[in-house]
Amino acid sequence: ISDPGLVAMEQLATRREECRICGSRQLSRFLDLGLSPLANRFLQQDQLDDEEPRFRLDVFLCADCSLVQLLEIVDPAFLFRDYIYVSGTSDTMRAHFSSFADEVTRRFAFQSDQLVVEVASNDGTFLSNFEGRDLRLLGVEPAVNIAEIATERGIETINEFFSEDVGERIRTEYGPAACILATNVFAHLDDMNGFVRGLLEALDHEGIFIFENSYVRDMLDHLEFDSVYHEHLSYFSVTALSALFARHGMEIFDVQHQPVHGGSLRVFVKRQGASHAVTDAPARFCAEEKDSGLCDFETYEAFATRVYELRSSLVDLLNRLRSEGKRIVAYGSSAKGNTLLNFMEIGSDLVAYLVDKSPLKQGTFSPGMHLPVLPVERLVEDRPDYALILAWNFTDEIVSQQQDYIEAGGRFIVPLPTPHIIPESR
Ligand code: ZN
Repeated sequence: ISDPGLVAMEQLATRREECRICGSRQLSRFLDLGLSPLANRFLQQDQLDDEEPRFRLDVFLCADCSLVQLLEIVDPAFLFRDYIYVSGTSDTMRAHFSSFADEVTRRFAFQSDQLVVEVASNDGTFLSNFEGRDLRLLGVEPAVNIAEIATERGIETINEFFSEDVGERIRTEYGPAACILATNVFAHLDDMNGFVRGLLEALDHEGIFIFENSYVRDMLDHLEFDSVYHEHLSYFSVTALSALFARHGMEIFDVQHQPVHGGSLRVFVKRQGASHAVTDAPARFCAEEKDSGLCDFETYEAFATRVYELRSSLVDLLNRLRSEGKRIVAYGSSAKGNTLLNFMEIGSDLVAYLVDKSPLKQGTFSPGMHLPVLPVERLVEDRPDYALILAWNFTDEIVSQQQDYIEAGGRFIVPLPTPHIIPESR
């Protein structure tokens, strides 16, 4: 109690005792990633000596609705205050957003002047794909700095967290929405039921909610434990999502599996009774999830065992290369990368520095391990022997952009699901 740092940290997090969808207390922990700093809280030089807040990173399964979730809730005002992920920076994501917007407008044929809202609209990258289609566009984005970027590019943006109140405000000030979009935000919510009530406030009777989020089945199949960080409170199956929407008189009428972010779900939701036809996909996903053990605790325990084995094999590989005198850096200072580095305690003795394309991150230090973040150009100038790809979901893009580094003798290490080296031999 006498340590002011500890008191401050306790105020920054709360511990949930009940499942955030169904309220059950039948929650069992299967994965322990330790005490971890916030994966997107990059540090400035003058912050390196300050005590860094760390929080438990434990993952639980709800026995009743099958939702995989964190129970440690970091105060969103702290977690997202200086949020640094700007979606416009990746070629892969730009192309993905463009084709997503095309599909939505083709399939649903919105009428002139209808309202399309994006929740957690980031810098407006995704919404900007709907410009020139005779729709009204509105973003909702809590991060002050990023909402400003969106507004400057001409995307009207409410600087708030989406909630029941904001849903009501949208209906009052802009009229009911034909479509609400959300990419990679649904997992950030603690109060999911409140969020869905907000959707019901804002959506027209025929209005649809379309969102994308990581799929827990991909996490299990490809050992993507590094998608676990404090921002991601939930890891979705269609089974758990169906339970959530059913509580509110809504239903999933289509689901698609997308390759983006290591495997995502694109989910289409409507009010029960709205006219959009229900495809056979939601029932098919639920049946496959049941068959593959996604509702069984044993499946998650086996996953955790593989995660601990991966830690040993990757750290062994890095140690071996270092003992051979090789120089190793890391590529892509993504949040998932920081989960991996902190869980495996990969610090400057193994990896000299990180390189990243984002100018906002360059010059900062990674959370926890405090690796300096340098521009990507450094790779070709400095020619380290190996670059560990932390943003492994962009491996193809990174390798094709870094041919100069490879031709100069550089090699990449891909950590998941089994550590391997590109190119394999020379
Ligand atoms: Zn539950």
